Amino acid sequence: MDPSLIFGALLGAGMIGFLLFIRFKDLPKPAPVSPFLHLEERKASIYENLRDLQFEYRLDKLSDRDYQASKLQLQKELAHVMAEIDRVKAELGQPLKVAPPPAPKKKNVCGSCGAEFEKALKFCGECGKPMGQTS
Ligand SMILES: [Zn+2]
Repeated sequence: MDPSLIFGALLGAGMIGFLLFIRFKDLPKPAPVSPFLHLEERKASIYENLRDLQFEYRLDKLSDRDYQASKLQLQKELAHVMAEIDRVKAELGQPLKVAPPPAPKKKNVCGSCGAEFEKALKFCGECGKPMGQTS
């Protein structure tokens, strides 16, 4: 086989791989799934149940007592779900608030004479005394 053909094929494959790599890298990150998505879904379904309940009540399919009992049950569930959503939201907000400030650049300062050095040194370049690892 002609070596230039092999070289050409390899080059072509490399180019395609490179292009695919670039494309893959440039793909936008998938939207993060809300951690309380399932709670929002539950909330929506409870609202739906409440609507159905009212609908059936208006059609006289339910007795007053059954209607009130079911409504109370659904409202209790709803309150629970709302509280859970608040809790998750508060939990998510917490780490953002306590994000540490960017660490200041550590300097190597001689404890004896106060001279500053970019690199950590075993001995001070100014006074020659041993330097600790403290900033
Ligand atoms: Zn020194």
